[in-house]
Amino acid sequence: MHELRIAEDLAAMVAEYAAEAGLKKVMKVNISFGEYIQIVPDLFEAAFTEAARDTVGEGAELDIEIIPAEMRCHGCGSAYKPAGDLCACSVCGSEEIDLIHGKELFVKSIEGG
Ligand SMILES: [Zn+2]
Repeated sequence: MHELRIAEDLAAMVAEYAAEAGLKKVMKVNISFGEYIQIVPDLFEAAFTEAARDTVGEGAELDIEIIPAEMRCHGCGSAYKPAGDLCACSVCGSEEIDLIHGKELFVKSIEGG
């Protein structure tokens, strides 16, 4: 269950952002996940509740946005949505490809007071 490890990282990030913003209590955390991070939102929320206990993020609501995976081909420059696992370019068949979206994990914003 990798949700717990990610949730612990997120709780640490939230505490850091809250300190920077001078928040004493975080009410809501808006986060984005790439599709390939493959978290289960329900599990993740439960894991975050555990990880954030006794921090400023305790009890914060999570708003999770999933960013669809997208590949770019070096051969022909096409951007496309991969079908299934990482695979060759769907336009020209090249295997010189980059994942440009899908592995993101970041905090868009936090709300609190
Ligand atoms: Zn291509």
